Amino acid sequence: MEQFLDNIYINNLLEQAAAAPDGDIDRVLGKASRFEGLTHREVAVLLAMESDEHWARVFNIALEIKKRIYGDRIVMFAPLYISDYCVNACAYCGFNCGSKAPRRKLTLDEVRSEVEILERMGHKRLALEAGEDPEHCPLSYILDVIKTIYAMKTDNGAIRRVNVNIAAAGVDEYRLLKEAGIGTYILFQETYHRPSYEKYHTSGPKSDYLWHSGAFDRAMEAGIDDVGGGVLFGLYDARYEALALMLHNEHLEKRFGVGFHTISLPRIRKAEGATQTKWPYAVSDKAFLRLAAVLRLAVPYTGMIISTRETPEMRKSLINCGISQLSGGSAVEVGGYALREQNAAQFRVLDERTPQDILLWLMDEGLIPSFCTACYRNGRTGDRFMSLAKAGEIKNVCLPNALMTLCEYAEDYGSEAFKEKSALLIDAKLGDIADENIRENIKNNIKRIRAGERDLFL
Ligand code: SF4
Ligand code: SF4
Repeated sequence: MEQFLDNIYINNLLEQAAAAPDGDIDRVLGKASRFEGLTHREVAVLLAMESDEHWARVFNIALEIKKRIYGDRIVMFAPLYISDYCVNACAYCGFNCGSKAPRRKLTLDEVRSEVEILERMGHKRLALEAGEDPEHCPLSYILDVIKTIYAMKTDNGAIRRVNVNIAAAGVDEYRLLKEAGIGTYILFQETYHRPSYEKYHTSGPKSDYLWHSGAFDRAMEAGIDDVGGGVLFGLYDARYEALALMLHNEHLEKRFGVGFHTISLPRIRKAEGATQTKWPYAVSDKAFLRLAAVLRLAVPYTGMIISTRETPEMRKSLINCGISQLSGGSAVEVGGYALREQNAAQFRVLDERTPQDILLWLMDEGLIPSFCTACYRNGRTGDRFMSLAKAGEIKNVCLPNALMTLCEYAEDYGSEAFKEKSALLIDAKLGDIADENIRENIKNNIKRIRAGERDLFL
C-alpha cells in the first residue's frame, strides 16, 4: 500500500522511463501483443514514448486486444443520481458543500419513477451515484434504494445489476452493501498525487487521502470482490496518474488475488458551481486516446468504461482503443430522467443521443450492444471472473449473452427498423460462435426470446 502512495518512487519511474532505449520499447510492445499485460514499470516506458511509429503500434495492439478478448460486444449501462447532498469540498464538482444550489434526494417513489423510465429505455445495469452526506443520505437510504430497484419490474424490463459509486466507507458498511447484492463497487481516486489531492479536497471526510485511497482494501476485506477504480484525468500529470492506477491495481492483486474489475476514464470538464475553473493538467484528445490505449495494453482483462462526458467522435475513437463499456441516454442530475421527460433538464453531457440511436450507431460500426449482466448473476465475480478472462474464454460467454440481450431489447423496445437491423446482425454474429453446440443452443434461445421468454443467459 505504501509503495503506490510514494510520490518519489513514481517520479523516479517516470524519469528512468524517459531514457528507455528503443530495445526496451520493443520488448514491452512484444509482451503487450501477447496479451500478457504490463507491469507499472513497463507502463512507464510506454507513457514516455515520443515516436509516432511506436504509438501506431500501441493503437494496433489495443485494437487487437479488444477484438480477441472482448469480441465485438460493448456493454451498456446508465447512471442513476439519487442524491446531491454533499459534505465534501471537491473543487471540480458542482455538488461541493460550498455551492448554494438547492439539494435534492429522491424519495423511494421518485426512485421508482426514475427506474421505470430506465427500464422502459431497456437498461438492465445501473451505476448508482450519490454525494456523501451521512445525515441526508445515510447508508440505510442507499440500501433501501438498492432494494427498491431490485424489486421493480416494468413490463419485461428489470434492472439486473446495480453497481454503486458512493463515498469511501468502513468495512461494516461495505458488508451491508455486499449483502444488498451490489455488482461492482466503484470509487474514483480522483488524483493519486497527494499534494494535488489535498489542494482540491480541502474539507469533509473525503479530504483524508489515506481513508479514500484505502477504500478498496476495506471493501475487499468485507467480501466485495468486484471493485472499479478510476482517476479524474486533468487534476495532475496524467502519466503519474496512470502509473499510480497500475500500482494500486498491483497492490490489490497482491493482497486479494484480484485487481480492478473495471477502470473508468473520466476527464475534467467545466462544472457549474465548481470552485476551480482552470486546469493546467487538462488532457488533450490525443493524449487521452494514448492513455486509454496504454491502459488497455497494461490490463487487457479489465473492463474499461467511458461515459457521455465524451463526444460521439471521441467515443468512437476510444472504442477502438479498447473501451468495453459505455453509458447511453444518461441523465446526470438527481431526478434527471423524469425531468428530461418533462423537457426541463439541463443536460450536461456531450453525447446527447438517445439510447436507441447509440445502439444503432454501434451496430453500424459492426459492434454488438450488450445488456448482459450474466457473470454477476452466475457468481463469476472476482478471481472466478479473472481466471476465465485470463484464459481468453470470457468472449465465449460475452458474445452469446450479447446476442440474446440485444434480441430481448429489440423485441421489447426496438422500432421496426431496429428489429430488422438487429436481426441481420444477430444472424451474422451467430456464425462467430465457434462451438457448434453453443451456437445451436443460442439459436434456439433466440427463438425462445422471440416467442416471449426472457432473461436467458450463459
Ligand atoms: Fe461530493 Fe462527490 Fe462532488 Fe466531491 S465529487 S463534492 S464527494 S458529490
Ligand atoms: Fe460482462 Fe460477463 Fe456478460 Fe461478458 S458475460 S458482458 S463479462 S457480464
